[in-house]
Amino acid sequence: MHVTMLGTGAADGWPNPFCACASCSAERQAGRSRASTSALIDGRVLIDCGPTVPHAATRAGIDLAAVCHVLVTHGHPDHLAPAFLLWRQWVDGLADLHVWGPPAAMALCQEWVAPGAPVTLHELSGWDVLTLELPSTDDTYRVRAIPAAHGHGNGDALAEEALLYDLRAPDGARLLYATDTGCLPAQTLDAIDSSIGNSSPEPAFDLVLVDATFGLKADHGTGHLDLATLPAFLDDLRQAGSIAPTTDVVAVHLGHHNPPREELAPILAGMGVRAVDDLAVIDAPAQSAHSRPARGQPAPARHLVLGGARSGKSTYAERLAAVSASVRYVATAAPRPDDAEWAERVRQHRDRRPAHWHTVETFDLPAALAGAAAGETVLIDCIGMWLTAHLDARDAWSDDPDTVRRAREQVLDCADELIEAIADCPASVIIVSNEVGMDVVPATASGRLFRDLLGIVNARLARACEHATMMIAGRPLPLPRDGHRPPAGCDLP
Ligand SMILES: [Zn+2]
Ligand SMILES: [Zn+2]
Repeated sequence: MHVTMLGTGAADGWPNPFCACASCSAERQAGRSRASTSALIDGRVLIDCGPTVPHAATRAGIDLAAVCHVLVTHGHPDHLAPAFLLWRQWVDGLADLHVWGPPAAMALCQEWVAPGAPVTLHELSGWDVLTLELPSTDDTYRVRAIPAAHGHGNGDALAEEALLYDLRAPDGARLLYATDTGCLPAQTLDAIDSSIGNSSPEPAFDLVLVDATFGLKADHGTGHLDLATLPAFLDDLRQAGSIAPTTDVVAVHLGHHNPPREELAPILAGMGVRAVDDLAVIDAPAQSAHSRPARGQPAPARHLVLGGARSGKSTYAERLAAVSASVRYVATAAPRPDDAEWAERVRQHRDRRPAHWHTVETFDLPAALAGAAAGETVLIDCIGMWLTAHLDARDAWSDDPDTVRRAREQVLDCADELIEAIADCPASVIIVSNEVGMDVVPATASGRLFRDLLGIVNARLARACEHATMMIAGRPLPLPRDGHRPPAGCDLP
């Protein structure tokens, strides 16, 4: 199955044309734009056709002449701009077009179909199963309509009748098109997992296109998902066996409450999700050989967050962790009973964290990591304190050069043990560390030792992490990963 994303944006697109917020500005400056979400399957089946979709096909350099089935999720204007039906009727010699969707959406289409035009409208409701036949081929697509959780009891009939689509392509690949929806009720999840027309259970989806409209805005009160509810939505499907570790999960219907793409990508990666640009082509091969998947979890992701004092590194790391249902917070802080200012700082940090996070205070990071489970997120804050504690324990601030050399070697061994523990950890790991190497050379030998060791440890950690972000003045700067070893200068000579 080849899927061309004719749009990946929310109703208003991203950037919203009228908005100058930081997210919209960043996307605009980067020359990116997302329009109404729509997917074209193998050039033959179109799912949703909002106002920007026909022109998006043109921009992608493709025509829609072979499209003979359009699946409409619901009648909201970003999913259905029915004038396309008229424009298609101005072209001679096309095959009959079948448009499928909920009743109110089909009523909107009816107004654009001229008498005698080769267009048939089919009303669908939840759990209808249909076979899409194609002219001059035996290929068929099997489609099941699934009731979405888009309505919000506010009398919006178009939202109440909204559908998701479960589509099986002729090559066996299976797609879930799941926008616009909130989390699904248990009976829907059970039914998605159940078989259609035969006794063997359905294989997991090969591709899931999933709503991620509201990003960091959790109080939207709509039938959509955001970065707080998306993990629960996906976990439910994983528990039901509908999402396997091999499933490609792509976020769609993206709006400007999401952080800019560079920030969004690692957050999504932590959930086993990616975002693609408009006009991206996704190859979704059928994993038809795969047996019933184990209860899959997203692959653990590792993220190093660097920054100077008050750069916002801890807040940013906590935001990354907050999307996980289970967070183990590892504070590398030793008690300082006589230091009131320190106690106050620790209290502020603690108050900021959600009450359900499990906090561990320790310098034994490999032990803390060993206790973590798949599906959890471990947040370590911070490596600067950890390094200080290890140097203290080895008397590294002494005047004796042999003691210092030994301490340095032992501490680097500890760093390597830590990196091994991170690599072996089945949980996602977020590591906060200080960036102290940008000031003048410290006047004291101990200051230079600390600065150099932290630089070396940071470089080694960055090598072990898929993602690294530098916080500067409260803003995240993603650090590209070029696949090369860092130059010798940032490691031991
Ligand atoms: Zn929408
Ligand atoms: Zn909608």
